[in-house]
Amino acid sequence: MTDKPFKGRAAVVTGSTSGIGQAIAAALAERGAVVMLNGFGDAAEIEAARSALAKRFGVAVAYSDADLTRPAEAFGLIGQAIDEFGQVDILINNAGANRVAPIEDYPPEEWDRIVALNLSAPFHTIRAALPGMKQRKRGRIVNTASTCGLVALPDMAPYVSTKHGIIGLTKTVALEAAPFGITCNAICPGLVNTALSRGSTERIADAAGISFEEAGDMRLREKHPNRRMVEIEEVASLAAYLCGDAARSITGAAIPIDGGWTTQ
Ligand code: NAD
Repeated sequence: MTDKPFKGRAAVVTGSTSGIGQAIAAALAERGAVVMLNGFGDAAEIEAARSALAKRFGVAVAYSDADLTRPAEAFGLIGQAIDEFGQVDILINNAGANRVAPIEDYPPEEWDRIVALNLSAPFHTIRAALPGMKQRKRGRIVNTASTCGLVALPDMAPYVSTKHGIIGLTKTVALEAAPFGITCNAICPGLVNTALSRGSTERIADAAGISFEEAGDMRLREKHPNRRMVEIEEVASLAAYLCGDAARSITGAAIPIDGGWTTQ
């Protein structure tokens, strides 16, 4: 087996300027894919990360600042990648956001933003990417859902709703795409050590009047029987596996990577 199984493949990874998406982009580049990065952040830092990734793995790496809450930009991101690389073989819908508040205090505009980013954007990128994948009779789509796509948590109405929703979208796309040799799966991480989960832990600490460390320990005790956070590289390895030939019979799945959270 070659150590560059994705040589000749082009990947788009949304929300890859930090956290899980950045690790997935690196895992795909390491395996030989050319990669379109996307997300927000400091322009100089993003450019440094882009060129470092290209240099480290000897592959082309591009970047798009598409704001995925805007349908035209989400759809257009795939066009940008096709202009750059000629095709999109691997689509990772990973960008996501959360905010913690009880439903009666939830700002309606935040509901709209989170639905647009977590659920509508993957619909738009998928509808843009599928025609080319169907034509070539190959393709891999991986959607970053969450344990919150399988079970609920309080005070996260849009997050839980969109993560459940993206699992439904995953299953539908899997059925439509299966005859074309294309797979579509969802990964469902538990608590992963990133800015997003640190933000939730901070808000829980503030609400309970405890320290960040105490809140982190409390979350792990409650949710992860194995008592440890998931590392971004573990999630990236799972995503990369789903993009490979060995995973060609896995489609429509929602795979937990959560230290046992959803087994309880
Ligand atoms: P993160 O905050 O580090 O990364 C989010 C990424 O999305 C960043 O690159 C950010 O710039 C990008 N982004 C935000 N708004 C955007 C927009 N409008 N348009 C384009 N890009 C945008 O968070 P993360 O923890 O790496 O989260 C990545 C995914 O993993 C999310 O879908 C999240 O729901 C999911 N997830 C995270 C955890 C966790 O514990 N961290 C657990 C389960 C699922």
